[in-house]
Amino acid sequence: MNLILLGAPGSGKGTLAKRLQEKYAIPQISTGEILRDNIKRETPLGKKVKEIIDRGELVSDEIVIEIIKQRLNESDCKNGYMLDGFPRTVEQAKALEEFAKITLVINLEIDNEKVVERLLGRRLCPICNYSTNTHWENYSDICPKCGATLVKREDDTEESIRERLNVYDKKTAPLIAYYKERNLLKGFNCDDTPENIFNNVVKELN
Ligand code: AMP
Repeated sequence: MNLILLGAPGSGKGTLAKRLQEKYAIPQISTGEILRDNIKRETPLGKKVKEIIDRGELVSDEIVIEIIKQRLNESDCKNGYMLDGFPRTVEQAKALEEFAKITLVINLEIDNEKVVERLLGRRLCPICNYSTNTHWENYSDICPKCGATLVKREDDTEESIRERLNVYDKKTAPLIAYYKERNLLKGFNCDDTPENIFNNVVKELN
């Protein structure tokens, strides 16, 4: 099961991926998380991409293609994987075809204003990457998995969110038609609870 999770920032790709990862024991591979980890560790790559990410722009295709190529070679990807946030351009999708066989593209559909509201409420655990939202029931700013205090992502400012949505519409949304033509796309309405979205996707995968 080699899946792509496609959808605007804030559509819930990461949340869905983490739940699918628990159910199907295949890794979630998020280029955003890999890049943020490099920023945190102040690696040369991290230093190179920090400002681009904070502005809400895309990192170059070459960089993310190389990251994915190496990551898919690791042994935990043998039985499948979920790509979260990759590909984000048609160029990346074409490059991916050369070294991966995709089974299904899950497209998370949501409208832009909903995204802004959601992302302003998004909180993450700085230790284990647990993700939650101040708008959800029983929200607490302590991570239920490891006890750390949750934080806002540095690029979750209104300005950066709006830029990421622009970039998504221009560069990533064309992938919907790209994968539709290849009969790989399945759309899900994501203006719903994480549980309902997860259950609908599992039904489709089963
Ligand atoms: P995400 O965690 O998926 O929201 O990604 C955070 C940021 O990392 C994006 O706004 C981009 O700056 C960068 N990024 C992540 N994945 C990609 C990708 N496939 N192509 C280009 N930039 C990416």
